[in-house]
Amino acid sequence: MSENDDIYECQGVSIEHVDGFTECMDFTCDLPHELHSFHVACTELSPLCPCVPEEHVPPALLIAA
Ligand SMILES: [Zn+2]
Ligand SMILES: [Zn+2]
Repeated sequence: MSENDDIYECQGVSIEHVDGFTECMDFTCDLPHELHSFHVACTELSPLCPCVPEEHVPPALLIAA
């Protein structure tokens, strides 16, 4: 039995984009999405990520733009 303490987990936030692409808020980090303590969908970001298609944007935001 061996501990998995050799697996490093990023303490940052990994953003999951609409197309499935993921990236850490820390641009120096290249760990995969699963190895992050926090996950967020880019549709939940404020302001919205540019990759979010219009059908996901609430009408109020479109009017404001
Ligand atoms: Zn995005
Ligand atoms: Zn990271």
